[in-house]
This record gives sequence, C-alpha cells and structure tokens, in this order.
Amino acid sequence: MIPFSPPHIDDLIIEEVSKCLRSGWITTGPRTKLFEKKISEYCGNEATVCVGSATAGLELMLRWYGVGHGDEVILPAYTYCATANVIMHCGAKPVFVDINKHDFNISFENIKDAINYKTKVIMPVDFAGNCCDYDEILDYISKLTTKRKFMPRTEEQAALERILVLADAAHSFGAVYKGRKTGTLADASVFSFHAVKNLTTAEGGAIALNFPEPFENEEIYRQLCISSLHGQNKDALAKLQKGSWKYDVTEAGYKCNMTDIQAAIGLVELSRYDAILKKRKYICERYAAGLSEYDWAELPVLQDKDKDSSSSYHLFPLRIKKVNESKRDAIIQGIFDEDVAVNVHFLPVPMLSFYKTQGYRIMDFPIAYNQYSREISLPVYFDLTDEQIETVIKAVIKVVENSDSY
Ligand SMILES: *Cc1c(COP(=O)(O)O)cnc(C)c1O
Repeated sequence: MIPFSPPHIDDLIIEEVSKCLRSGWITTGPRTKLFEKKISEYCGNEATVCVGSATAGLELMLRWYGVGHGDEVILPAYTYCATANVIMHCGAKPVFVDINKHDFNISFENIKDAINYKTKVIMPVDFAGNCCDYDEILDYISKLTTKRKFMPRTEEQAALERILVLADAAHSFGAVYKGRKTGTLADASVFSFHAVKNLTTAEGGAIALNFPEPFENEEIYRQLCISSLHGQNKDALAKLQKGSWKYDVTEAGYKCNMTDIQAAIGLVELSRYDAILKKRKYICERYAAGLSEYDWAELPVLQDKDKDSSSSYHLFPLRIKKVNESKRDAIIQGIFDEDVAVNVHFLPVPMLSFYKTQGYRIMDFPIAYNQYSREISLPVYFDLTDEQIETVIKAVIKVVENSDSY
C-alpha cells in the first residue's frame, strides 16, 4: 500500500532528538528559542512564537485580541474543524462564507458581504498551500468606510482600529505571494507542524507576528509566551537562573508551549525545507502532467503561474468532473483497492454534526459542497518515488475510467 502522508524521519532527526534528550533540557528552552528565530528569518516576519499546535496558536491570537461573546469571526466553510472550533472556544460566532470555484480559498466577494459591526476577525485559510488574496482583504478592511463599521471593545482592538486578519497558514509554510512569504502577509499567521504537514515537529505550531504600527511585535511575542505558559512571567529555563526561582502569574493563561524535543525535529526540517518544497512541487507537477490529457480530471491550481507567487504544494486536490459524492466515494474505494491511499480535504465544517446542531446548513455553501463532493487528495510526501507516482496516476486513471460515470 502506498501510504498517504508518512513523516520523513531519518538518522539526522533521530540524532538531533537524541542530543536534546541527552542535553538535560527537554521542555521549552534553547532549541525552541532558536527554532522561533529561524522561522522568523525564513519567513521574514518580525517575531514568532512556537506553540503546541496550530489550533492552540489560533486560539491564543483570538484571545489576545479579546474575541468573545457577541463577536463574529469570518472563515471559509471549506476548512478543517480547528479553524471553527477555536472561535467556539472563545464564545464568538463563526460566520462561514463560501469559497472560490478555482482554488478552494475563501471568496473575497463573500467576505465583503459578511462584514458587519460585530466582525472582529477574518481567518483566511491557505488551502493546499495557495495563499489567499491578502492584499485585497487588507485593503478593503483598511478603507475608511469599512473601518467605520468596526466597534472596538478592547485596548488591542482600539489600537488596530480595524478587523484583525488571522491567517490559518497550516498548509502554506514557505508559500510565496507577490514576492513575500507567508508569515508576513497577515497581522498574524499560524502554521501547523502536525505529523502530516509539510514541516513537522510531530505535533506543534507557530504564530508568525507581523502587526503594523503602533504595535511592537516583540512585545506581543512576550505576551504570547506568557499566555502560552499559565500566565507565568518566567519560563522554566528563566526560573533556573541563580536566585530567580520567584515568579508571578499575571493571567489565567493556557498551557500550550512547544518542547525542545519538538523543536529539535523542526530545526532539522527547516534546515532542509527548500529540498522538501522542491520534491513536493515535483510530485504535483508529475501528477498534473500524467492526468492533464483526461477530460474528467480537473487539476488543482498550483499557485506558480507568475514568478512572484508559489504554492507550498501541501496537497494535490484533484477534482473529478461530473461525479456526485457517492460516485466519488466509490472511486476512492477503487483507488484503495489498487493499494493507493488517498484522502478528502475537507468535509466542509457545516456538514459536521456539531455544526449542524448550531444551525449551519451545507446548502448555504454550494461551491464548498460541490468542490468537496468531487475532491480526491493524492499522496504528496518526501519519500514518494517516481515509480510510486506512476502507480498513483495509473490507479486513478484505471478506476475513474472503469467507473460507471465514464
Ligand atoms: C492541520 C490543520 C489545522 C490544525 O493544525 P494542528 O497543528 O493540528 O492544530 C488547522 N487548520 C487547517 C486548515 C489544518 O489543515
């Protein structure tokens, strides 16, 4: 069986993790701090906070901005449940909007229609590694007419004077938009280092800070470190310094710091990330070339048509033309029977039981449903060989051509 997305763990990673384990420091410490610095250098943003997951990072940012009861947060219907769950955790209302037909990303036109005086945050999701149109979104919410609708309730909201753009960049680490890398495109961008993501630390995430004036990103960094560690004003390493045992707790904070063991994996991954991206691009291009001659294959947009943009090639979301959900499911079963693991990204959030009980209905998001019902994600990972790529392409062709739809 060709797996869908196994991690690439080699001797170098095992060696670095062993070094960390033997060093006597395994929780947040020098490796995490170094990893944070290296991420900022790589992306070009001002400061980065590593956390236990992207989910935790997204929630920390919403809490930092004071999002709560009575507030609305705009997000695409087509995302992983994490994007919506953190809004629920804060007691705010997720306002789902439909997506683009071509690239699965949140539709700018729909964002405009969804904004009202309750809107505090927009959470675009860079699906499959293609960046959303951040300039378009930021220009619009920075316009005087949009700013007039913004009703700040907290100090941070009053200082920003507009809707916060919090990017769910779980898929897009390393992607480029108009010559700039993710991490610099929104006020804050949250990456996921979960085992299946492009760059992994087993579990983990990072918040890339890129706030405009009058904010100081270093100051927000310090605040987020504290709120990711119980609101404690010193971390374990700082407390260890001579005579520094005494600490205070300044808020009822969370517990979602990254460990140095995770950072040890991340540092190796980051040091060879260019090679990882190159391989992913190669795989996606091979799939596109192998399937392009088939009428039934709707190939994904790979954001690299112009020289200033590139995808991070997190997924290859193939769509099959003119099938419905059950036919798509049958095709997936057929591909599995050929010993190839595929996946579906995503079940739109309004289709999930919990969100149905909250009153959301998938029929309000026809494009999201249409994309979902025809989507099959093909395996993309570092160790995939040329032979395996061919096996995947052949399996897809064989199963689709033999299915009763064609
Ligand atoms: C994976 C993923 C997340 C959650 O990441 P974790 O690190 O597992 O919390 C959030 N949003 C999207 C779009 C994802 O794919």
